[in-house]
Amino acid sequence: MLKVPLFCALIALTGTTLVGCREGFPSQSEFVLGTVCAVNLYEQGRNEVYHEIFDRLREIEGRMSVTLPGTELGNINANAGIEPVAVHPDVFEVIELAVLYAELSGGAFDPTVGPLVSLWGIGGDHPRLPSQEEIEAVLPLVNWRDIELDRERLTVFLKKPGMALDLGAIAKGYAADEAWRILKKNRIQRALIDLGGNILVYGEKRDGSPWRVGIQDPLDSRGAYIGIVEIRDQTVVTSGVYERFFETGGTRYHHILSPDYGYPVRNGLLSVSIVTSRSVDADALSTSAFVLGYERGKALVESLEGVGAVFVFEDKSIRLSGETGFILSDESYRILSD
Ligand code: AMP
Ligand code: MG
Repeated sequence: MLKVPLFCALIALTGTTLVGCREGFPSQSEFVLGTVCAVNLYEQGRNEVYHEIFDRLREIEGRMSVTLPGTELGNINANAGIEPVAVHPDVFEVIELAVLYAELSGGAFDPTVGPLVSLWGIGGDHPRLPSQEEIEAVLPLVNWRDIELDRERLTVFLKKPGMALDLGAIAKGYAADEAWRILKKNRIQRALIDLGGNILVYGEKRDGSPWRVGIQDPLDSRGAYIGIVEIRDQTVVTSGVYERFFETGGTRYHHILSPDYGYPVRNGLLSVSIVTSRSVDADALSTSAFVLGYERGKALVESLEGVGAVFVFEDKSIRLSGETGFILSDESYRILSD
């Protein structure tokens, strides 16, 4: 059992967990992008840099949210089947990357899941179990091939009326990378960015050691972790059944939906964590690999360079793929090597 020294504390306990020693530089956090976002700039923590980062996060949310009124994403959705909509380069870039991952994952990752997400209402105030007929009625609207992108004009068109984009599986990753750019521009030496468990570490710890990021125990309360990954200048993003869900009739329904059959994905996985250098890739890949399941998810991860994955299963087994630097700490879990 790996012991965390007593003088160390667990910081920012959402989703993936930062495990580290407090150094007297508390992080600043705000509710943005639908979650608690925390940033720690340590000894270089100037207010103007914090402001620049949170302003940028809010700007991204203001363009890409489907829950806030008046966003560019909402405008694209309102014009589905009607006409192409001109968007900011931010929005175009994220949709373009979402389409790339839809293609790479054979449609397991699909940013047109919007109508399904609304039907289930998971994460909202009124989640419910839809009928089979309702699901079958919206499934034809879920197809990333019906997104038309015009790179010259920066327009996005959803071909069928009723289609809707949802960037919930990728936008936080993009936002974390934008925070990274601000760190670089301001010559910050080390920082931690935690966008609701979507973690990016910048530089290394003051003593030159790597950051230790906890992988959330998907079966336990928030903050309990099954092990850690040791990383520098990298990101760890987890997609898991515990993040957003509701229960009815004794069954738990989580928020990652199958574009094939319209229900929360059930394939024996509890979570998939991706370790890599760019957060937008990690975010898209954790969702993709979760939907694909272990065999096909692993094949996708291994087809890409510099990507590691931690797959956690319902039977408390763990399988690793690529370079993860994962160290198990909870001995009720076990690592299997295929
Ligand atoms: P994540 O937590 O990054 O795995 O993203 C999950 C969120 O992405 C959900 O809350 C939905 O908004 C959306 N989503 C659900 N299923 C899918 C899917 N198969 N492909 C893309 N986005 C999805
Ligand atoms: Mg994701």
